[in-house]
Amino acid sequence: MIENTMVSGYGKPDEAMMYAKGICEDYVLDPVYRCERCRDKLRSDTIVYEWGDDWICEDCMNDAVMSLDPSDWAEVTGESVAYTKQMIEMADTYEKLADLMRLEKAEAWSVL
Ligand SMILES: [Zn+2]
Repeated sequence: MIENTMVSGYGKPDEAMMYAKGICEDYVLDPVYRCERCRDKLRSDTIVYEWGDDWICEDCMNDAVMSLDPSDWAEVTGESVAYTKQMIEMADTYEKLADLMRLEKAEAWSVL
């Protein structure tokens, strides 16, 4: 298993406050899109990934992939478990990880 060092911050009270006061113009001007798993706000051009019936943000996608068993990864890639683990370890961006797992990706505005 790979250590997941990308810890997502939940809550973000400061941001919520700013949004409530209308200080965060991005969120006021842009329709608000939310990850279907963690409900985090996303900009319209954020890349989201299809996971089952949900479109989820990159953090959630990473968590979801990492929660799978290596044998599940191997099933997706069609390679051996050892080789697949190696490929996952070498995937240094979310995009490469999603490609390995054959996940559909799209901009938030088009699917959320
Ligand atoms: Zn999320």
